[in-house]
Amino acid sequence: MPSKKIIITIDGWSSCGKSTLAKQLARQLNYVYIDSGAMYRAITLYFLRNHIDWTDDSQVKEALKNIQLEFRPNEHSGQTEIYLNDENVEYVIRDLVIAEKVSDVAAIREVRRFAVKQQQEMGRKKGIVMDGRDIGTVVFPKAELKIFMTADNAVRVERRFKELFDKNPNITIEEVKSNLEMRDYIDSHREVSPLRQAEDALVLDNSNITMEEQLKIAAKWVKELI
Ligand code: C5P
Repeated sequence: MPSKKIIITIDGWSSCGKSTLAKQLARQLNYVYIDSGAMYRAITLYFLRNHIDWTDDSQVKEALKNIQLEFRPNEHSGQTEIYLNDENVEYVIRDLVIAEKVSDVAAIREVRRFAVKQQQEMGRKKGIVMDGRDIGTVVFPKAELKIFMTADNAVRVERRFKELFDKNPNITIEEVKSNLEMRDYIDSHREVSPLRQAEDALVLDNSNITMEEQLKIAAKWVKELI
């Protein structure tokens, strides 16, 4: 087992396989995996359920005081799952209703401050793989390994469609495509911590490679560092 623990960040566009790679690496290295997007999704769920007007700063500030987020391991799968105020919301946050609003919520400065502080705390002891949009640029600018993932648009739409269709057969490919395009646009154009490739990130395009191949590439990068 490698002795030196590092921080691995994986950023990139929506649905290009960031979480798959992050989970693969975390399992292989016996690292903690943190899905930062799940935090923004859980906050969005709380705002929607509690009818918070997120264009109103004071409502946002008050609401954040009542939000407690936690990642706990699922005993059966071994994967970490997100809890919002003690409720497991890992599955409900994947719904398209949340995906339609999450980028607006994630663009709010106060929301980002709230999430980033907790993310940085989780990386204090290193030995972590975190995926998201600003992990290598803002959350861990000094991370030892930064990966920027990308894939062709059509491949990304197809992947996300398959994932969502399994849970909701009424979903259409057009809905999925427009949601991905909208999120990518908002995420890369927002004022606070926009999605961009860190200068020292290594790019991994997985349009035409298998999951095993992408793991091999990333594992080689890790090996060179530890
Ligand atoms: O990764 P996932 O697609 O679940 O993320 C959901 C949304 O959360 C993204 O579209 C983006 O708006 C936001 N996000 C973010 N910064 C991160 C992770 C996710 O703004 N580090």
